[in-house]
This record gives sequence, structure tokens and C-alpha cells, in this order.
Amino acid sequence: MTKHNFYAGPAILPKSVLQKASQAILNFSDMDLSLLEISHRSKQFEAVMDESKSLILEIMNLRDDYDVLFMGGGASSQFFMVPMNILKDDETACYVNTGTWASGAIKEARLFGNVNVLASSEDDHFRHIPKGFTIPSDAAYLHLTSNNTIYGSQYQSFPDSPIPLFCDMSSDIFSKRLDFSKFDLIYAGAQKNLGPAGVTIVVLKKSLIGRSARKLPTMLNYKSFSEKGSMYNTPPVFPIYVTMLTLQWIKEIGGLEVVENRNRAKAECLYNEIDRNSCFYGTVEKNDRSWMNVVFVPNNPEHENLFLEACKAEGCVGLAGHRSVGGFRASLYNALELKSVQVLVDVMKRFEEKYA
Ligand SMILES: *Cc1c(COP(=O)(O)O)cnc(C)c1O
Repeated sequence: MTKHNFYAGPAILPKSVLQKASQAILNFSDMDLSLLEISHRSKQFEAVMDESKSLILEIMNLRDDYDVLFMGGGASSQFFMVPMNILKDDETACYVNTGTWASGAIKEARLFGNVNVLASSEDDHFRHIPKGFTIPSDAAYLHLTSNNTIYGSQYQSFPDSPIPLFCDMSSDIFSKRLDFSKFDLIYAGAQKNLGPAGVTIVVLKKSLIGRSARKLPTMLNYKSFSEKGSMYNTPPVFPIYVTMLTLQWIKEIGGLEVVENRNRAKAECLYNEIDRNSCFYGTVEKNDRSWMNVVFVPNNPEHENLFLEACKAEGCVGLAGHRSVGGFRASLYNALELKSVQVLVDVMKRFEEKYA
């Protein structure tokens, strides 16, 4: 049965990427060896590292005053690595609390300096993105979370910041065009829009590296990764390779403009149905709705399991809301096709006919 994969992460990847990745597990780069059993220092794998890095900078339209690091530990490790590497003890870092992941980043930053939470939508169950807050010009940086994966809100524009702007883009990186040069540091775990779990991309201004002047273990120091091209130790070879294939795919289909148009069409298709259908409603303020994670709930709580069953019967999987929120969440990452969203919309229409 054809499956329509709405999982929030690890998430859907393009079929062609999965095919090439499986081929490389059997015979990588005509070496008659698997990608999984060769040296990461081979020239074939070094080419993968080089191409991954240059594709990221190319798609972001950034120059070589930025470095790209491939790290382990997930985006969650960046919650502490960012302040540990950049914030000095007596400095203040600014954060905006837009949900579970932003809260996690705030908690970890408090270990390394002062934290000023400029704004929070917690009192509103994170149903909107705070706006109009003042950014103090004497703080070390401002950290945002571009897409709130669990509650389904997303910045549709970013504030102009007088201080360096950092962003956790784990769940919407490369989902639309963006002026990436507005940001001084961007990080993203690969497993939502880029590849398998196991690698985290950190893109940062080279001038930030070593800024905190803290004594750090080698493997927690951006400097070691930067100086050694993310090869101080054995990097996560397979996640990096699959990420490279996804980046090639983005370029092949026409770059971020095409990706953006596809994602807009998918989000519109689903939100229009949520707004029309009497069985469901969307929980997030309309202007702040995420294109990546569409969160909605049934008007009748008894419909929750019934609807998930109806979805499953049509091959639509991964639609249960996050355990902390309930309801439904449809993740529409880059590789999900519009026709999968149309199948879901059909299920919603038929559900309404039967149960409304
Ligand atoms: C999933 C997610 C994380 C956590 O990522 P891990 O790689 O599992 O640590 C952090 N931030 C955001 C926005 C996420 O969506």
C-alpha cells in the first residue's frame, strides 16, 4: 500500500535520495566497497564532505566568512554548545520562547551566562509568535527557533536585530527562500528536512569561533571542528552522505524557489480544508501558522482515534499530535508531495460527510 508519510521526524526523504543512498551502501563510488566500510579519510569520502559544505553555502548564498560544521549530538546538543562556545560568563544572551525546543535552548544557556527571555508565548500555549519585542543592543546574541515543530507555529518574517542573530532551524531549514546572511549562526539536526538522524549542521560566522574563550573539551569546541574540517574524529559518514544527496536534490528540482512554491501549495491545501471542515480546527494564529508542521484538533474529542484510523486506512501515517499536545499534526516536509496532502484532505472531507 502506498504510504503518505506525515511523521514529524525522523521524516520523509525524497525517493531518489533513498535509492542512491541504498546503492552507496552496496557499492560506493564504484569502489566495490560499501560507504559504510571505507575510511572517512579516503579521497572519495573527502569529496562528499567538500561537496556537502559547498552545497550548503551555495544554497544559503553565503560566502566564505561562514564556516559549516558537521557535528553529532543532535540539535539538542547545540542548545548548550552555542552558549558554551560563544557566550562569556558575564554576558547576557537573549532568547524568545516559542515552544518546547526554545525552552530547552533557554534552560541550557543559563548554565553559561545570563539569559534574558525577551518574549514568550507560553501563556497562550505557544499558539502565536511574539512580535514587537525590544532587542537590547548590549547583549551578546539573540537566539530564535524559526519553526515550532510541536505546536505548529513559524516565524513568517524575522526581526531586524542590532546584535548577532542565531537560529535553530531544525524543522524548516531549506523549506523556502530566506536571507540567510541575516543570521550569524544557524543550526539544524538533519532528520527533519535533510537526512537521517545523526548529524547536525552548524553554519556560523568564522569570527564567532572561540569567542567565549572558555576552556573546552576538544569534541565540544567549534574550533576543533572548524580547523579539521569536521574530521577531528570519525564523522557520521552515512548521515552526511544522505544530506549531500538531499542538497543535490534541492538543486536539481530548481532550488529554494521551487521548494518554497511546493511547500506553500501543500500548506494552503491543508489549511484551507481545516478552515472549511466543520470537524476540525487549527490551533495556531493564522499569520503564524507553520508550513512544515500543521497542528489541528477535532471539534469533538471523541473523533480523535476515529480520524487517525480513517487516515491509516488510506495509508496516511504519522498524524498523531505530539504527546504533549494531542490532536493531530501533519508534517509537510520538503520531500512530501502535494498528492499526499490531497489524499489527507480527501480523508478529512469523507470524515466530515460521515461524522459531522
Ligand atoms: C527536533 C528538534 C530539535 C531536537 O533535535 P535533536 O536532533 O533530536 O536533538 C531541536 N529543535 C527543533 C526546532 C526541533 O524540531
